[in-house]
Amino acid sequence: MADQATAIYLEPQGLFMRVRYRIDGVLHQKTALPPNLGLPMLSRIKQFCGLDAENSSRPQHQRVRAQFNATAFELSLATYPSVWGESLALNIKYTRDAALPLKLDELGLSPLYLRRLNRLLGHPGGLLIVTGPARAGKSTTLYAACQALNLLSQLIVSAENPVEQRLPGVLQGNWTPEAGDSFAQLIQSMGEMNPEVMMVSGLDTPEAVKACVELALSGAKVMGAYQSFDTMGALQRLVPQGLEAYLIAAGQTAILSQRLVRRLCDLCKQPEIPSRESLNALGLRAVEPDAYTLWRAVGCGACSQGYSGQLAIHELLVATETLREAILARRGSAALRQLARSQARLISMVEDGYFKATQGLTSLAELQRVAFVNEYDADSPLQAEQVVSICLGEDPAFA
Ligand SMILES: [Zn+2]
Repeated sequence: MADQATAIYLEPQGLFMRVRYRIDGVLHQKTALPPNLGLPMLSRIKQFCGLDAENSSRPQHQRVRAQFNATAFELSLATYPSVWGESLALNIKYTRDAALPLKLDELGLSPLYLRRLNRLLGHPGGLLIVTGPARAGKSTTLYAACQALNLLSQLIVSAENPVEQRLPGVLQGNWTPEAGDSFAQLIQSMGEMNPEVMMVSGLDTPEAVKACVELALSGAKVMGAYQSFDTMGALQRLVPQGLEAYLIAAGQTAILSQRLVRRLCDLCKQPEIPSRESLNALGLRAVEPDAYTLWRAVGCGACSQGYSGQLAIHELLVATETLREAILARRGSAALRQLARSQARLISMVEDGYFKATQGLTSLAELQRVAFVNEYDADSPLQAEQVVSICLGEDPAFA
């Protein structure tokens, strides 16, 4: 816990049990235990957390709340029978019940995207989908959006699987399979409350997507998380699942795609001039390597491999009329992306990340590790100065 690990993995490897920690989204080997220590430890953890310690041949899952010193956290355990023996993943979620969630302006959005998101949230109604892979900070963003809308004049209801953080003033529904109803049914029942805003923790099934679209069609603002690699992919997968009806109704549709990069340690980072190749690999063909000082990770006693903490990089697409029509006409990915860039004035996740690298927040190496590169963006390259001035919100063409 002193390492701020968010997951611990115990993996039998034959002669030893490998122990790895996930810190800031990246795995680090912590130690290797001999089997006579590792196996009893694994079995004790299972027993302590209420799993069947005797059974090691089938996968098991469990969630438990625990407390260590003054820190409360929730553990979610999963065992997996591998050919090397039973392995265990221990995901740690630090519960911050007492603390308020992050505010919108603490999410690390660029000034441009913060302004666009605030404008979106300020409109009544609309569908906002936050997308990204697992562990990309989607729920943090949704909680911040709820918090921004949490006014006396608005009723906010959520359907969550499960509630990760308590928000006073929001009617948070915690879904449990034991209750009998499906998650989609819980989503539907939110509508009966006639709220101004609804939040859904995961659009995991076509039924959940359909239920959300129906709620949005009623005029309420609906915000939900959806797991996918990128903005356009999310859009194209959601359309046949029910989003089409909302696009036909010309409802305001926005997709916020995000991923987490590691934050550079301010104590040890060093300036660097990136290579032409590394910029090209990210599709930043019009960015001159020496346009801005970037920074690389070094590592010191105060950080982990030159990084400390994480921040999100974003891509926020607000569908325009033309883009909506193109999606409904089932135009291809290249045409849709081109419209997103030219009409919806989309700044890509890579460009957003490059902007944050020029601010010394993260490194180009992190962008290469994490960012989703859309190959079609090579058709509309921006220069470094353009990227920075647009992201700062200073370019009038990108309102
Ligand atoms: Zn450091």
